[in-house]
Amino acid sequence: MGEDKIIDSKSGIRKNSAAYFNRAQEVIVGGVNSPVRAFGLVDDDPVFISHARGSKLYDVDGSEYIDYVNSWGAAILGHAHPDVVADLSHRATRGITFGAPTHLETELADRIRSHLPSMEMMRFVSSGTEACMSAVRLARAYTQRSGILKFEGHYHGHSDAMLAGAGSGLATGSIAISAGVTQGAVQDTYTIPFQDHDALCRVFEDHGHKLACVIFELIVGNCGFIKPASRFIETLTALCQRYEVLMIADEVMTGFRVGLQGAQGLYQLRPDLTVLGKVIGGGMPLACYGGSKKIMIQVAPVGQMYQAGTLAGHPVAVQCGLSTLKILAQSEHWTYLNDLSRRLTDGWRDQAASYHLPLSVDYQGGMFGYAFSSHAIKTKSDMDQASDEHFRGFFSGMLARGIYLPPSPYEACFLSLSHSSEDIERTLEASGEVMAQLAG
Ligand code: PLP
Repeated sequence: MGEDKIIDSKSGIRKNSAAYFNRAQEVIVGGVNSPVRAFGLVDDDPVFISHARGSKLYDVDGSEYIDYVNSWGAAILGHAHPDVVADLSHRATRGITFGAPTHLETELADRIRSHLPSMEMMRFVSSGTEACMSAVRLARAYTQRSGILKFEGHYHGHSDAMLAGAGSGLATGSIAISAGVTQGAVQDTYTIPFQDHDALCRVFEDHGHKLACVIFELIVGNCGFIKPASRFIETLTALCQRYEVLMIADEVMTGFRVGLQGAQGLYQLRPDLTVLGKVIGGGMPLACYGGSKKIMIQVAPVGQMYQAGTLAGHPVAVQCGLSTLKILAQSEHWTYLNDLSRRLTDGWRDQAASYHLPLSVDYQGGMFGYAFSSHAIKTKSDMDQASDEHFRGFFSGMLARGIYLPPSPYEACFLSLSHSSEDIERTLEASGEVMAQLAG
């Protein structure tokens, strides 16, 4: 990769992006519709996208990037998959939205349940935020308790009760609790460090009988990339059973991303409730929550727990999810995704070792993460201690070489079925050059 291939940043070649960003800031707060997109932590201007195909993004200045964000995990097939686009186009010609049931919703629910049997019944909504908020409300309705346990750095969307000690954009912006969230809204939310066995036992001893649920990312992707120790999950499960606390597995990110049965399949966990989003809509706004029938029948119109949505179960989004999940059901795709992730992360580990850079890196399925840290990442505070300076240098160097990574160390990275061996080789070539620079 020579100097001629370098895509300049901020004031350089990305002139159209910079102009669009300036214009956007006049009418859209911060110029973006979700904070991390603003590139604040990496002190750069965001890349404005013109279009995307397969594993590649194209910006408004005519540069091509290998995409490792993939719409924050949703685009697992890559961009503009021809079969999905054909199905979507056909569906749209039959009417975009009706606000009435379609059989497609049942087909998608059946398909989800066939892969995640803990979800005996479910309800579709439009975003992961809504799905998490509704699952928590349902847990409260079912248990008649108010307490919620969550873990530092895990992200469950932006409903008020979930905005204490959260990951993702809040961790990136060092926001412990969002302004505008009242003390009342979070007074029943208990937040403890992930994988802290003692803190877990203590919070159950002190508050177990008040807890409605514990909500968690089984494999964490909003605070770097963290796989839990099985022992921690076993203890959590045992405590939930003893205190009759519902387990809510937030698989918005990991569902149909780390494997066909989600993280719960990998850890052989049967949560009371599961939350899905991202991949189940194949890139369209769709999410759902679901679980055992005895819990789900508390939801209106069958039960008294109210939750509704004008565009919930949107036919075009459901079609997009259905077409995506049909393709993903082929087991060889999961071997392929695991293989690509392993090659990329092994390559980074070897390169970092050869340049004596501290790097912790891990993957599962089509999801991976890295941190410039000499020890494995187990908690948010491990992540807080990783080197921001190295992260920024790596991010900028990779972006300049046409590799689009998440602009925050707290966010996971994503591969797609469209990524090729050549993409991995090009990425490793770029990372070799950038790590050499960081070491020098
Ligand atoms: N839960 C998890 C684990 C997530 O990663 C996210 C978003 O990244 C959400 C919930 C919120 O989903 P949404 O952004 O669709 O509201």
